[in-house]
Amino acid sequence: MSKVLIIGAGGVGNVVAHKVAQAKEVFTDIMLASRNENKCRAIAADVKNATGVTIKTARVDADNVQELVALMKAFQPKLVLNVALPYQDLPIMDACLHAGVHYLDTANYEPSHLAKFEYSWQWAYKERFEKAGLMALLGSGFDPGVTNVFCAYAQKHLFDEIHFVDIMDANAGDHGYAFATNFNPEINIREITQRGRFWEKGEWKETDPLSVKWVYDYPVVGPKDSYLLYHEELESLAKNIKGLKRIRFFMTFSERYLTHLRVLENVGMTRIDPVEFQGQKIVPIQFLKALLPDPASLGPRTKGKTCIGCEITGIKDGKPRKVFIYNVCDHQECYAEVKSQAISYTTGVPAAIGGLLMATDKWMKPGVWNMEEMDPDAFMAELNKRGLPWQVVERDPSAPSA
Ligand code: NDP
Repeated sequence: MSKVLIIGAGGVGNVVAHKVAQAKEVFTDIMLASRNENKCRAIAADVKNATGVTIKTARVDADNVQELVALMKAFQPKLVLNVALPYQDLPIMDACLHAGVHYLDTANYEPSHLAKFEYSWQWAYKERFEKAGLMALLGSGFDPGVTNVFCAYAQKHLFDEIHFVDIMDANAGDHGYAFATNFNPEINIREITQRGRFWEKGEWKETDPLSVKWVYDYPVVGPKDSYLLYHEELESLAKNIKGLKRIRFFMTFSERYLTHLRVLENVGMTRIDPVEFQGQKIVPIQFLKALLPDPASLGPRTKGKTCIGCEITGIKDGKPRKVFIYNVCDHQECYAEVKSQAISYTTGVPAAIGGLLMATDKWMKPGVWNMEEMDPDAFMAELNKRGLPWQVVERDPSAPSA
């Protein structure tokens, strides 16, 4: 019987609201707050239609710690599910410490003026959360999130030693637009225009942006061009998976997407620094976001499937072993259930599951934790029950990788 506060009423916030409302046995009182309360009200109306559950709504500026604390003290939730933007992670963590509330998010902190994301800022809160007897669970989306739990599950059940991990993220969906991003365009474009980075033999190695391609044969969706990117879960997994020799992350992009991206970069539309325009300062990437389709609106148009998983190579009972642990998710099935495409769905369901495990004290320990530091079994069981079933397939351990 728990009270939960969801912050952020975008594509992911919509899914979290639906999935939390579906877990009636755990969440008895739900509030959705964002900077635009009308968006919260629209989601609350959909949730009421779909589940019969009433969700309270509120307006909050999540950059403002005092406003957040006032809202938390008035509503008194057990935990906050932060699905606003990475810029809001630290103010929301500060507010949780002031108000005595547990915390969960799906993306690590990133300062708005610097296209750089890393866990150091949030790991620095560990002692404060420990002393306050509060838990902060970081990165409870799909990647990061489920991919970390897949690694923890492989470490616990499938391998004696893990040597190589390749996280493979394929979106084989089509929304019919020439160019659109599946989650917040500003965060998405900032992420993929950075230099590639992976971890090997204790060191970080860099590549030019999108310069390493692997045609990977995914279950169900088939072979797809997959590009090496830096992704935040690499940082915590390199630290927490013992005996690891290399970990990388690959994501699929179509040639059409990459051509648009190249042009936008070349003309300066992806810049994150302010430029003078007709007497006022504008940030080009924020202007671009205003022009691009809202990811939350892609749901009814998107057809096809995602396949995201971890290819893991290591040793079991003295023999080499390679497995692919993955989920396949169908865009239209997600839309039929919660009026959302699969990218928001695959992020929102794990956020709701993480919240559910914290609310029921199955995952509850004071401090700041990444997903792979928790016991994976309860989370893996919930994935199967709540819309993201997973499979493990054996692969040939001697087959070459990229
Ligand atoms: P959206 O842009 O659709 O939604 C973000 C929401 O946060 C919007 O409702 C926005 O308000 C609100 N918001 C932004 N700033 C503030 C603020 N200062 N105060 C209050 N509310 C604010 O993004 P998504 O739903 O696509 O993504 C949500 C999060 O999920 C992001 O952090 C993203 O990085 C993460 N993510 C994680 C993934 C994973 O697998 N781990 C995958 C995909 C996304 P408004 O509506 O007014 O703009």
